[in-house]
Amino acid sequence: MKALTNRFADLKVDALLISALPNIRYLSGFTGSNALLLVTPSGNTLFTDPRYTIQAAQETSGCVVKTARGPLIAEAAQIVKRRRLRRIGFERGRLLFDTWQRLKEALPLGAALKPVGPVVEELRMVKTPEEIARIRGAVICNSLAFEATLPRIRPGARESEIAAELEYQMRRHEAEKASFDTLVAAGPRSALVHAQPTAEPVRANQLLLIDMGATRAGYVSDMTRTLFLGKPGRKVRGMYDSVLTAQLAGIAAVREGVMAEEVDRAARRVLRTAGLDKAFVHSTGHGLGLEIHEAPRLGKKDKTRLRAGMAITIEPGVYVEGFGGIRIEDTVVVTANGCEVLTPTTKEFIEL
Ligand code: ZN
Ligand code: ZN
Repeated sequence: MKALTNRFADLKVDALLISALPNIRYLSGFTGSNALLLVTPSGNTLFTDPRYTIQAAQETSGCVVKTARGPLIAEAAQIVKRRRLRRIGFERGRLLFDTWQRLKEALPLGAALKPVGPVVEELRMVKTPEEIARIRGAVICNSLAFEATLPRIRPGARESEIAAELEYQMRRHEAEKASFDTLVAAGPRSALVHAQPTAEPVRANQLLLIDMGATRAGYVSDMTRTLFLGKPGRKVRGMYDSVLTAQLAGIAAVREGVMAEEVDRAARRVLRTAGLDKAFVHSTGHGLGLEIHEAPRLGKKDKTRLRAGMAITIEPGVYVEGFGGIRIEDTVVVTANGCEVLTPTTKEFIEL
Protein backbone atom coordinates (compact mmCIF):
# COMPACT_ATOMS: atom_id res chain seq x y z
CA MET A 1 0.00 0.00 0.00
CA LYS A 2 2.82 2.35 0.94
CA ALA A 3 4.76 1.60 -2.26
CA LEU A 4 1.59 2.28 -4.20
CA THR A 5 0.64 5.58 -2.54
CA ASN A 6 4.26 6.71 -2.97
CA ARG A 7 3.57 6.71 -6.69
CA PHE A 8 0.48 8.93 -6.52
CA ALA A 9 2.41 12.15 -7.24
CA ASP A 10 3.89 10.62 -10.43
CA LEU A 11 0.55 9.26 -11.47
CA LYS A 12 -1.11 12.60 -10.71
CA VAL A 13 -3.93 11.03 -8.69
CA ASP A 14 -5.32 11.57 -5.18
CA ALA A 15 -6.83 8.10 -4.97
CA LEU A 16 -6.74 4.83 -6.85
CA LEU A 17 -9.80 2.67 -7.35
CA ILE A 18 -8.61 -0.94 -7.69
CA SER A 19 -11.05 -3.22 -9.49
CA ALA A 20 -8.92 -6.26 -10.48
CA LEU A 21 -9.58 -8.98 -7.89
CA PRO A 22 -5.99 -10.35 -7.81
CA ASN A 23 -4.74 -6.81 -7.16
CA ILE A 24 -7.32 -6.37 -4.41
CA ARG A 25 -6.22 -9.65 -2.88
CA TYR A 26 -2.57 -8.64 -3.09
CA LEU A 27 -3.17 -5.28 -1.39
CA SER A 28 -5.81 -6.21 1.18
CA GLY A 29 -5.87 -10.00 1.60
CA PHE A 30 -9.54 -10.24 0.56
CA THR A 31 -10.26 -13.33 -1.57
CA GLY A 32 -13.96 -12.86 -2.39
CA SER A 33 -15.40 -12.51 -5.87
CA ASN A 34 -16.97 -9.05 -5.62
CA ALA A 35 -15.01 -6.04 -4.39
CA LEU A 36 -13.54 -2.64 -5.09
CA LEU A 37 -10.66 -1.12 -3.17
CA LEU A 38 -10.22 2.63 -2.82
CA VAL A 39 -6.61 3.44 -1.93
CA THR A 40 -5.80 6.93 -0.62
CA PRO A 41 -2.78 8.24 1.28
CA SER A 42 -5.00 8.75 4.34
CA GLY A 43 -6.58 5.28 4.38
CA ASN A 44 -8.06 2.49 2.31
CA THR A 45 -11.62 1.24 1.96
CA LEU A 46 -12.71 -2.16 0.69
CA PHE A 47 -16.24 -2.32 -0.71
CA THR A 48 -18.00 -5.65 -0.95
CA ASP A 49 -21.51 -7.06 -0.63
CA PRO A 50 -23.30 -8.68 2.33
CA ARG A 51 -22.29 -12.22 1.31
CA TYR A 52 -18.73 -11.30 2.30
CA THR A 53 -19.20 -9.26 5.48
CA ILE A 54 -17.75 -11.92 7.80
CA GLN A 55 -15.07 -13.09 5.37
CA ALA A 56 -13.84 -9.56 4.60
CA ALA A 57 -13.49 -8.77 8.31
CA GLN A 58 -11.46 -11.95 8.80
CA GLU A 59 -9.21 -11.64 5.78
CA THR A 60 -8.36 -7.98 5.39
CA SER A 61 -5.82 -5.84 7.09
CA GLY A 62 -4.97 -2.19 6.55
CA CYS A 63 -8.37 -1.15 5.26
CA VAL A 64 -11.88 -0.28 6.42
CA VAL A 65 -14.54 -2.68 5.10
CA LYS A 66 -17.80 -1.25 3.80
CA THR A 67 -20.61 -3.63 2.98
CA ALA A 68 -22.71 -2.14 0.21
CA ARG A 69 -26.40 -2.97 -0.19
CA GLY A 70 -26.40 -1.78 -3.78
CA PRO A 71 -23.75 -1.30 -6.47
CA LEU A 72 -20.22 -0.99 -5.07
CA ILE A 73 -19.35 1.96 -7.30
CA ALA A 74 -22.19 4.05 -5.79
CA GLU A 75 -20.73 3.42 -2.35
CA ALA A 76 -17.22 4.27 -3.59
CA ALA A 77 -18.50 7.50 -5.16
CA GLN A 78 -19.95 8.47 -1.76
CA ILE A 79 -16.52 8.25 -0.14
CA VAL A 80 -14.95 10.21 -2.99
CA LYS A 81 -17.50 12.95 -2.35
CA ARG A 82 -17.15 12.93 1.44
CA ARG A 83 -13.36 13.12 1.29
CA ARG A 84 -13.41 15.63 -1.56
CA LEU A 85 -11.06 13.52 -3.66
CA ARG A 86 -10.60 15.02 -7.12
CA ARG A 87 -8.37 12.83 -9.30
CA ILE A 88 -9.43 9.22 -9.09
CA GLY A 89 -7.13 6.77 -10.86
CA PHE A 90 -8.62 3.59 -12.27
CA GLU A 91 -6.97 0.49 -13.77
CA ARG A 92 -7.36 1.08 -17.48
CA GLY A 93 -6.55 -2.50 -18.43
CA ARG A 94 -8.95 -3.95 -15.89
CA LEU A 95 -12.11 -1.84 -15.57
CA LEU A 96 -15.03 -2.65 -17.84
CA PHE A 97 -16.20 0.25 -19.99
CA ASP A 98 -19.69 -0.18 -18.60
CA THR A 99 -18.44 0.13 -15.01
CA TRP A 100 -16.34 3.13 -15.96
CA GLN A 101 -19.38 4.83 -17.43
CA ARG A 102 -21.54 4.20 -14.36
CA LEU A 103 -18.72 5.34 -12.11
CA LYS A 104 -18.33 8.55 -14.08
CA GLU A 105 -22.04 9.28 -13.68
CA ALA A 106 -21.96 8.56 -9.95
CA LEU A 107 -18.95 10.77 -9.16
CA PRO A 108 -19.53 14.22 -7.68
CA LEU A 109 -18.92 17.37 -9.71
CA GLY A 110 -15.23 18.26 -9.85
CA ALA A 111 -13.99 14.68 -9.53
CA ALA A 112 -12.30 13.20 -12.60
CA LEU A 113 -11.32 9.68 -13.60
CA LYS A 114 -7.69 9.15 -14.63
CA PRO A 115 -6.60 6.00 -16.50
CA VAL A 116 -3.63 4.35 -14.82
CA GLY A 117 -1.40 1.53 -16.15
CA PRO A 118 -0.54 -1.75 -14.43
CA VAL A 119 0.99 -0.19 -11.29
CA VAL A 120 -0.10 -2.91 -8.89
CA GLU A 121 1.01 -5.59 -11.37
CA GLU A 122 4.46 -3.96 -11.42
CA LEU A 123 4.67 -4.22 -7.63
CA ARG A 124 3.55 -7.83 -7.83
CA MET A 125 6.41 -8.83 -10.16
CA VAL A 126 8.92 -9.13 -7.32
CA LYS A 127 7.71 -11.66 -4.77
CA THR A 128 8.25 -11.55 -1.02
CA PRO A 129 9.82 -14.60 0.67
CA GLU A 130 6.32 -15.48 1.90
CA GLU A 131 4.98 -15.44 -1.67
CA ILE A 132 7.91 -17.53 -2.93
CA ALA A 133 7.21 -20.07 -0.18
CA ARG A 134 3.63 -20.34 -1.45
CA ILE A 135 4.72 -20.72 -5.07
CA ARG A 136 7.16 -23.41 -3.95
CA GLY A 137 4.26 -25.18 -2.21
CA ALA A 138 2.20 -25.07 -5.41
CA VAL A 139 5.14 -26.40 -7.46
CA ILE A 140 5.71 -29.35 -5.10
CA CYS A 141 2.02 -30.21 -5.10
CA ASN A 142 2.03 -30.05 -8.91
CA SER A 143 5.02 -32.41 -9.22
CA LEU A 144 3.65 -34.88 -6.67
CA ALA A 145 0.37 -35.03 -8.59
CA PHE A 146 2.24 -35.62 -11.85
CA GLU A 147 4.23 -38.45 -10.31
CA ALA A 148 1.11 -40.04 -8.79
CA THR A 149 -0.60 -39.95 -12.19
CA LEU A 150 2.23 -41.43 -14.26
CA PRO A 151 1.35 -45.10 -13.54
CA ARG A 152 -2.15 -44.47 -14.94
CA ILE A 153 -0.93 -43.15 -18.26
CA ARG A 154 -0.97 -45.99 -20.77
CA PRO A 155 -2.37 -46.65 -24.23
CA GLY A 156 -6.16 -46.72 -24.04
CA ALA A 157 -6.48 -44.07 -21.31
CA ARG A 158 -8.43 -41.05 -22.48
CA GLU A 159 -6.84 -37.58 -22.50
CA SER A 160 -9.74 -36.35 -20.37
CA GLU A 161 -9.25 -39.15 -17.81
CA ILE A 162 -5.57 -38.30 -17.47
CA ALA A 163 -6.43 -34.61 -17.00
CA ALA A 164 -9.05 -35.50 -14.38
CA GLU A 165 -6.58 -37.71 -12.53
CA LEU A 166 -3.94 -34.96 -12.51
CA GLU A 167 -6.46 -32.48 -11.10
CA TYR A 168 -7.71 -34.97 -8.51
CA GLN A 169 -4.15 -35.67 -7.39
CA MET A 170 -3.38 -31.95 -7.13
CA ARG A 171 -6.33 -31.53 -4.78
CA ARG A 172 -5.24 -34.57 -2.80
CA HIS A 173 -1.91 -32.83 -2.36
CA GLU A 174 -3.58 -29.75 -0.90
CA ALA A 175 -4.17 -27.63 -3.98
CA GLU A 176 -7.31 -25.50 -3.88
CA LYS A 177 -7.72 -26.13 -7.57
CA ALA A 178 -5.89 -26.42 -10.85
CA SER A 179 -4.51 -22.99 -11.74
CA PHE A 180 -5.84 -23.41 -15.30
CA ASP A 181 -7.58 -26.16 -17.25
CA THR A 182 -5.08 -29.01 -17.41
CA LEU A 183 -3.84 -29.66 -20.95
CA VAL A 184 -3.36 -33.23 -22.08
CA ALA A 185 -2.78 -33.79 -25.79
CA ALA A 186 -1.59 -36.92 -27.54
CA GLY A 187 -0.06 -37.48 -30.98
CA PRO A 188 -0.64 -34.77 -33.60
CA ARG A 189 -2.95 -32.91 -31.19
CA SER A 190 0.10 -32.03 -29.11
CA ALA A 191 0.95 -29.54 -31.87
CA LEU A 192 -1.99 -27.43 -30.68
CA VAL A 193 -0.27 -25.21 -28.13
CA HIS A 194 -3.37 -24.95 -25.92
CA ALA A 195 -5.17 -28.21 -26.73
CA GLN A 196 -8.05 -29.06 -24.41
CA PRO A 197 -8.22 -32.78 -23.55
CA THR A 198 -10.68 -34.85 -25.57
CA ALA A 199 -12.34 -38.22 -24.95
CA GLU A 200 -9.88 -39.78 -27.41
CA PRO A 201 -7.77 -42.62 -26.00
CA VAL A 202 -4.02 -42.12 -26.19
CA ARG A 203 -2.20 -44.67 -28.32
CA ALA A 204 1.14 -46.42 -28.32
CA ASN A 205 4.04 -44.67 -30.07
CA GLN A 206 2.61 -41.22 -29.57
CA LEU A 207 3.87 -38.04 -27.98
CA LEU A 208 1.89 -36.93 -24.93
CA LEU A 209 2.07 -33.30 -23.81
CA ILE A 210 0.88 -32.40 -20.32
CA ASP A 211 0.72 -28.78 -19.16
CA MET A 212 -0.57 -28.36 -15.61
CA GLY A 213 -0.57 -26.00 -12.66
CA ALA A 214 -1.74 -26.04 -9.06
CA THR A 215 -3.12 -23.19 -7.00
CA ARG A 216 -2.11 -23.51 -3.38
CA ALA A 217 -2.59 -20.81 -0.72
CA GLY A 218 -3.64 -18.54 -3.58
CA TYR A 219 -0.40 -18.92 -5.56
CA VAL A 220 0.16 -20.91 -8.73
CA SER A 221 2.68 -23.23 -10.35
CA ASP A 222 3.08 -24.04 -14.04
CA MET A 223 4.77 -27.10 -15.50
CA THR A 224 4.87 -28.84 -18.89
CA ARG A 225 6.33 -32.24 -19.60
CA THR A 226 6.25 -34.15 -22.86
CA LEU A 227 6.30 -37.94 -22.65
CA PHE A 228 6.39 -40.75 -25.17
CA LEU A 229 4.20 -43.84 -25.08
CA GLY A 230 6.77 -46.37 -26.22
CA LYS A 231 10.26 -46.03 -27.68
CA PRO A 232 10.75 -42.70 -29.46
CA GLY A 233 12.42 -42.74 -32.86
CA ARG A 234 15.45 -40.66 -33.89
CA LYS A 235 13.46 -37.66 -35.16
CA VAL A 236 11.32 -37.26 -32.01
CA ARG A 237 14.30 -37.75 -29.75
CA GLY A 238 16.31 -35.17 -31.69
CA MET A 239 13.49 -32.65 -31.38
CA TYR A 240 13.15 -33.36 -27.68
CA ASP A 241 16.88 -32.83 -27.12
CA SER A 242 16.75 -29.51 -28.98
CA VAL A 243 13.84 -28.27 -26.86
CA LEU A 244 15.59 -29.38 -23.68
CA THR A 245 18.82 -27.67 -24.72
CA ALA A 246 16.82 -24.51 -25.47
CA GLN A 247 15.10 -24.72 -22.10
CA LEU A 248 18.43 -25.13 -20.28
CA ALA A 249 19.88 -22.21 -22.27
CA GLY A 250 16.88 -20.10 -21.17
CA ILE A 251 17.44 -21.06 -17.54
CA ALA A 252 21.17 -20.34 -17.83
CA ALA A 253 20.39 -16.83 -19.13
CA VAL A 254 18.21 -15.90 -16.13
CA ARG A 255 19.92 -13.56 -13.69
CA GLU A 256 19.11 -10.30 -11.96
CA GLY A 257 19.69 -7.37 -14.31
CA VAL A 258 19.18 -9.31 -17.54
CA MET A 259 16.37 -8.15 -19.84
CA ALA A 260 13.40 -10.50 -20.27
CA GLU A 261 13.95 -10.54 -24.05
CA GLU A 262 17.54 -11.77 -23.60
CA VAL A 263 16.27 -14.94 -21.93
CA ASP A 264 13.90 -15.45 -24.84
CA ARG A 265 16.73 -14.89 -27.29
CA ALA A 266 18.94 -17.46 -25.55
CA ALA A 267 16.30 -20.19 -25.90
CA ARG A 268 15.38 -19.15 -29.45
CA ARG A 269 19.00 -19.22 -30.60
CA VAL A 270 19.28 -22.93 -29.77
CA LEU A 271 16.15 -23.75 -31.74
CA ARG A 272 17.35 -21.67 -34.69
CA THR A 273 20.58 -23.68 -34.81
CA ALA A 274 18.45 -26.84 -34.86
CA GLY A 275 16.31 -25.40 -37.69
CA LEU A 276 13.27 -25.38 -35.40
CA ASP A 277 12.83 -21.66 -34.69
CA LYS A 278 9.82 -21.36 -37.03
CA ALA A 279 8.12 -24.11 -35.00
CA PHE A 280 8.59 -22.13 -31.77
CA VAL A 281 5.43 -20.03 -31.93
CA HIS A 282 5.19 -18.45 -28.49
CA SER A 283 7.39 -16.63 -26.01
CA THR A 284 9.85 -18.36 -23.70
CA GLY A 285 7.94 -17.72 -20.50
CA HIS A 286 5.92 -15.48 -18.25
CA GLY A 287 5.69 -14.25 -14.69
CA LEU A 288 3.33 -16.03 -12.33
CA GLY A 289 2.07 -15.63 -8.79
CA LEU A 290 -1.51 -14.92 -7.80
CA GLU A 291 -2.32 -15.29 -11.50
CA ILE A 292 -1.01 -17.77 -14.03
CA HIS A 293 0.10 -15.07 -16.48
CA GLU A 294 1.76 -12.07 -14.90
CA ALA A 295 4.44 -9.61 -15.95
CA PRO A 296 7.08 -9.86 -17.24
CA ARG A 297 6.64 -11.69 -20.51
CA LEU A 298 9.83 -13.42 -21.57
CA GLY A 299 9.39 -12.65 -25.20
CA LYS A 300 10.76 -10.56 -28.04
CA LYS A 301 10.81 -6.85 -27.17
CA ASP A 302 10.12 -7.19 -23.45
CA LYS A 303 12.83 -4.98 -21.97
CA THR A 304 11.86 -5.56 -18.33
CA ARG A 305 15.03 -6.05 -16.27
CA LEU A 306 14.77 -9.21 -14.22
CA ARG A 307 15.03 -8.69 -10.48
CA ALA A 308 15.76 -11.13 -7.67
CA GLY A 309 12.49 -12.49 -6.34
CA MET A 310 10.64 -12.58 -9.66
CA ALA A 311 8.87 -15.89 -10.29
CA ILE A 312 8.81 -16.87 -13.97
CA THR A 313 8.41 -19.87 -16.24
CA ILE A 314 10.89 -21.07 -18.85
CA GLU A 315 8.98 -23.02 -21.50
CA PRO A 316 10.23 -23.21 -25.06
CA GLY A 317 8.37 -25.56 -27.36
CA VAL A 318 8.17 -26.70 -30.98
CA TYR A 319 4.98 -27.62 -32.82
CA VAL A 320 4.75 -29.40 -36.14
CA GLU A 321 1.35 -29.81 -37.76
CA GLY A 322 0.42 -33.45 -38.33
CA PHE A 323 3.38 -34.60 -36.25
CA GLY A 324 3.08 -33.21 -32.73
CA GLY A 325 4.48 -30.78 -30.22
CA ILE A 326 7.14 -30.83 -27.53
CA ARG A 327 7.31 -28.31 -24.67
CA ILE A 328 9.29 -28.38 -21.44
CA GLU A 329 8.34 -25.90 -18.72
CA ASP A 330 9.65 -25.19 -15.24
CA THR A 331 8.80 -22.57 -12.64
CA VAL A 332 11.92 -20.68 -11.52
CA VAL A 333 12.77 -17.81 -9.16
CA VAL A 334 15.28 -15.15 -10.22
CA THR A 335 18.26 -14.65 -7.88
CA ALA A 336 21.18 -12.20 -7.85
CA ASN A 337 23.50 -14.67 -9.61
CA GLY A 338 21.10 -16.80 -11.62
CA CYS A 339 17.92 -18.55 -10.68
CA GLU A 340 16.53 -21.36 -8.61
CA VAL A 341 14.56 -23.97 -10.56
CA LEU A 342 11.68 -24.84 -8.25
CA THR A 343 10.24 -27.68 -10.35
CA PRO A 344 11.79 -30.97 -9.18
CA THR A 345 10.31 -33.23 -11.90
CA THR A 346 12.81 -34.89 -14.23
CA LYS A 347 13.31 -33.44 -17.70
CA GLU A 348 14.61 -36.63 -19.19
CA PHE A 349 12.40 -37.86 -22.03
CA ILE A 350 9.96 -40.04 -20.08
CA GLU A 351 9.10 -43.25 -21.94
CA LEU A 352 5.99 -45.08 -20.75
ZN1 ZN B 1 2.14 -24.23 -18.61
ZN1 ZN C 1 3.29 -21.28 -18.71
